[in-house]
Amino acid sequence: AKRQGKNNVQLYSKQIDQLSKANLETEMMLRKALERGEFVLHYQPQADVKARRITGVESLIRWHNAKEGMIAPDKFIPLAEETGLIVAIGEWVLRTACKQNMKWQEMGLPPMVISVNLSVRQFFQPDLIEMISAILVETGLEPEYLELEITESMMMNMDSAEQILHQLKAIGVKIAIDDFGMGYSSLNYLKRLPTDHLKIDQSFVRDISNTSNDQDIVATIIAMGHTLKKKVIAEGVETKEQLQFLQEKQCDEIQGYYISKPVDPAYIPWVIHELNER
Ligand code: C2E
Ligand code: CA
Ligand code: CA
Ligand code: CA
Repeated sequence: AKRQGKNNVQLYSKQIDQLSKANLETEMMLRKALERGEFVLHYQPQADVKARRITGVESLIRWHNAKEGMIAPDKFIPLAEETGLIVAIGEWVLRTACKQNMKWQEMGLPPMVISVNLSVRQFFQPDLIEMISAILVETGLEPEYLELEITESMMMNMDSAEQILHQLKAIGVKIAIDDFGMGYSSLNYLKRLPTDHLKIDQSFVRDISNTSNDQDIVATIIAMGHTLKKKVIAEGVETKEQLQFLQEKQCDEIQGYYISKPVDPAYIPWVIHELNER
């Protein structure tokens, strides 16, 4: 039994070796991808339910790899986060998204808020505020047209998170809590944090048409958000039935395939025009 135990340990460390070797290779590939400009942003519209118009777009990263084609963020963001590369990638995302939003404004599109996802590492970078301010100055985008999406996992260290959020509010950008309902969410922190938007996680939205349990959860999140004076946005809206339910419960905004999939920036003017003319 002892021998087998030892073999298991060896086998295990060999697996770890292989794993970290694979990670190192991917890390190198990610670094090169950034240098070579292989990342692209797609944008998904967000619609105001009552006014029936597009108020913003969320930027979502993809990796355009010559061999593999388009790679989804779930496949590389976790490793980028682990290795710290997310800081450089995230800065690229912020700059690209702000530049793009400026371009749309200059084209004469109705002004939209651009949402950018922040990773945990990025959020706790000491120069986060300076970096964002510099990008706003560089691109000329008014801060009110940039929204940062953060997750509940960043609130574990409540005091520093609160401080960072207040600094972000001070430069005038908007804040959304993403994937709301998935993590540790105490009413206390929600009340304290200066956030503008709550995004209901798509796992709750997915089942509102068939389980009354999720209907209750979604209705409760909307009501709670409104009590705290926050706008509530539902993500992953795919059907008319889901939209009708959300409308009935006074959800402010929706995002999802029912409105549009994330698209290449070149299509946005056309998509916005079509959606606003409905
Ligand atoms: P997320 O921020 O929760 O983004 C929403 C995800 O849901 C996106 O997946 C979007 O394409 C997808 N989605 C939108 N509408 C629907 C719908 O109606 N039905 C379904 N089934 N899915 C829908 P995507 O683009 O693959 O992104 C996955 C995750 O990767 C994001 O989840 C976000 O956590 C992360 N991510 C994406 N871009 C960035 C980025 O620039 N930086 C960081 N740190 N993370 C990013
Ligand atoms: Ca998001
Ligand atoms: Ca989300
Ligand atoms: Ca998510």
